[in-house]
Amino acid sequence: MKKYDVVIAGGGAVGAACAYFLSRDTDLKIALIDLKKPGNASRASAGGLWAIGESVGLGCGVIFFKTLSKLHSEAQGKEVPVMRPHQLPDCFFEFALTSNNMYPALHQEMLEKHGVDFKFERTGLKFIMYNEEDRLYAEQITQGIPHLADQVRWLDAEQLKKEEPYVTDDAIGAIDFICDHQVNPYRLVDAYLEGARQNGVSLYLNTEVTSVIRNGNVVEGVKTSDEVFFCDTLINASGAWANELYQQATGRTMPVYPVKGQIVLSERMPKIMNGCISTSDCYIAQKDNGEILIGSSTEEKGFDTTNSLDKIQELSQGAMKCLPILKESSIKRCWAGLRPGTPDELPILGPVEGVEGYLNACGHFRTGILTSAITGQLMTELIMGKTPSLDLTPFSVERFEEAEQKAG
Ligand SMILES: Cc1cc2nc3c(=O)[nH]c(=O)nc-3n(C[C@H](O)[C@H](O)[C@H](O)COP(=O)(O)OP(=O)(O)OC[C@H]3O[C@@H](n4cnc5c(N)ncnc54)[C@H](O)[C@@H]3O)c2cc1C
Repeated sequence: MKKYDVVIAGGGAVGAACAYFLSRDTDLKIALIDLKKPGNASRASAGGLWAIGESVGLGCGVIFFKTLSKLHSEAQGKEVPVMRPHQLPDCFFEFALTSNNMYPALHQEMLEKHGVDFKFERTGLKFIMYNEEDRLYAEQITQGIPHLADQVRWLDAEQLKKEEPYVTDDAIGAIDFICDHQVNPYRLVDAYLEGARQNGVSLYLNTEVTSVIRNGNVVEGVKTSDEVFFCDTLINASGAWANELYQQATGRTMPVYPVKGQIVLSERMPKIMNGCISTSDCYIAQKDNGEILIGSSTEEKGFDTTNSLDKIQELSQGAMKCLPILKESSIKRCWAGLRPGTPDELPILGPVEGVEGYLNACGHFRTGILTSAITGQLMTELIMGKTPSLDLTPFSVERFEEAEQKAG
């Protein structure tokens, strides 16, 4: 039997960030337990820190909503309507932008204190416009975020050509979100884990939490296949699988479910991009080693992690339309990962009413790489008994129960 102050179930970006911030800011005895299940999201991710882009529905969002509105209209025999941006609520902007602002200092801290480099790069995120419909879409986006006007640059075709010479001549311009950047997601998780290990966290990797130990309304620990871990607080950071542990901890269910995303990766290429790109067909990011990452589909297919030719073809065609030079590239590999989805696309964070010794840190859907840093900080504040620096009410699990009661 082992005894810890805090046990973290799940070692993706979110669980690893919780381990890092807790071990940096407290003297608590902490264990992180992780089994890499097929499809774990952090290692499947693109590594975009697209705080504004994702909040206004670019990145994965725009591709998803375009497909969805096309399918709906076709099913009803109607014309495909003009796309409208899918903007998340203000609480999400604050959450995402606060997290985004943490990365420059975190990158320095990881380099200097722990000797690890998660390859933070200031890139911006450009939404490329091909036609008037795209321009209208971009205008609607900027009209929805007047308070962030200083973070948006409009580029005409000539300026775009100067900044991204490989973008197709068919592009009529772009909007650039200047505070949106990128990291290497594998290295980010490794950096959090290495920092946590150096700070004294016990890492149990290749280890599954098989059950939660509960005594009445108090969570007392977890079991793995061959050990028992008692703890004062269990943090559930088990990604798309989080509902399983939540059920055992609380006797209730919460709507966290896998949302598949497929990605294509090219072999290394000379530098052909100066920033990250989103179009309404795909997003494209050149990573620090020259590989080009093209993402990503949004599919509700349970825990399926296969790649399908149709999605890989759609993404590749979208990328070649934007950057014709990609016709000369070779595919290194494709993969699929499982985002921890929730119905309102917001994460589920913090305590659960009537349950002691348990915190949720899950449901980060499309932005868990970006928002891992603020999640680690908020969980640390909660465990230290401080008032969280951001209001967690919009992210509480109870919002779903309230919504159900209203509907019923
Ligand atoms: C294709 C794709 C592209 C993406 N691109 C971006 C992007 O550009 N930017 C961005 O911010 N986000 C992106 N995301 C989303 C992001 O990857 C996720 O939001 C984030 O990784 C979620 O992190 P997590 O730690 O909650 O989950 P995960 O990374 O899935 O980690 C959860 C871990 O818990 C483990 N686990 C589950 N159950 C147990 C158990 N019982 N015992 C022990 N371990 C367990 C899992 O195996 C896994 O290792 C993308 C996702 C996908 C799929």
